[in-house]
Amino acid sequence: MKLLVINCGSSTVKYQLLEMPAGDVLAKGNVERIGEEVGILKHKTADGKKVEITDEVFPTHEAGLKRVFDLLLDGTIKSLDEIKAVGHRVVHGGEKLTKTCLVDQSIIDEIERVYPLDPLHVPAHVIGLKVAQKLLPGVPNVTVFDTSFHQTIPEYAYLYAIPYSLYTDEHIRRYGAHGTSHQFVANRLAKILGKDVKDLNIISCHLGSGSSITAIQGGKSIDTSMGLTPLEGLCMGTRCGDIDPAVLTYLGRTKGMNADELDNLINKKSGLLGLSGISNDCRVLEDGVAEGKPEAIRAMNVFNYRIVKYIGAYAMVLGHVDAIIFTAGIGENSPYVRAEVCKKLGLLGVDIDLEANDCHGKERKISTDKSKVQVWIIPTNEELAIAQQTYDLVNK
Ligand code: ADP
Repeated sequence: MKLLVINCGSSTVKYQLLEMPAGDVLAKGNVERIGEEVGILKHKTADGKKVEITDEVFPTHEAGLKRVFDLLLDGTIKSLDEIKAVGHRVVHGGEKLTKTCLVDQSIIDEIERVYPLDPLHVPAHVIGLKVAQKLLPGVPNVTVFDTSFHQTIPEYAYLYAIPYSLYTDEHIRRYGAHGTSHQFVANRLAKILGKDVKDLNIISCHLGSGSSITAIQGGKSIDTSMGLTPLEGLCMGTRCGDIDPAVLTYLGRTKGMNADELDNLINKKSGLLGLSGISNDCRVLEDGVAEGKPEAIRAMNVFNYRIVKYIGAYAMVLGHVDAIIFTAGIGENSPYVRAEVCKKLGLLGVDIDLEANDCHGKERKISTDKSKVQVWIIPTNEELAIAQQTYDLVNK
């Protein structure tokens, strides 16, 4: 059964066509610069064919997706009828959309009510949904929410200590993000270990350009570092993570910065980029660390320290830790970050195998046999997770 997975951003569409339940990727790619003067479309098929279009205009998501369908029809599928369902990534589901859903108008209405919580991403996801409904009439659409995995977080962990009415009236609380990824790697590890995820306590570190850590007890998220938005928690590529909120009121008063300027500062100009003044890319900063550049060392020290601090906190929250998982761009590919973090986890009895750790993007255990907590690299695959959930729901 062929499934299309799409992830729509405000000017982008990422997509994969998969054969399920095997999970084989038949084609994948992305459309960028939708609505701009010239667009970009990169497309790859399982047999190694690559197409890169850089001289066409994609005025709308619909135009971009239509062009993708042309490419799919050129050798990958014979007819669009072969696409039996579409799985959509939706980054925020608010409090009501707590499960993967088969889309009907009531689901779209509910997603539209979530707009104020994430005006950057969610409206684009709804555009993707409507385009899929139009271009593939009669084909079921399924939404998989990044926030739904975190809906098991208890009230004392999701509430902010601000007037309670701001939760009841404005829905301000911790929602978390990267839920699909945290759930995927935790389930994957359980499978590798031959255990039921219900019997495991896991701390999952999704470290990419956006980063978050989740405490997973018996397969359920019980706390996560991201909050109302994906800004809270760890130091990220360009996001500040945890910060005293008074920094913002201070800057507002002393520098006259308004909400948009502050938003830009903490989302786009902070994190590794802000601290180093060099780059938001961990690879560049690791090179800087190796060359002894103080600005790179400073940024990476903050980055690594925050991870250690969260792991420590979540170890106490869980009471007992069976495994720590590293995933996403940095988690999978940076032996340096993993080693720097793990060497500070002696209190948990973590003992890392530096030789095993010296690898990129491989699924493997990187702790020694005497380590009290197993440490694993588990490559994440959010598209496959969305395809699996979509497949399960449409075949129910
Ligand atoms: P996202 O999906 O959030 O955009 P990714 O999970 O793809 O991000 O992670 C991207 C980040 O991974 C890059 O910013 C880069 O810093 C980091 N990264 C990729 N490869 C390496 C590597 N070999 N060593 C260290 N960091 C890496």
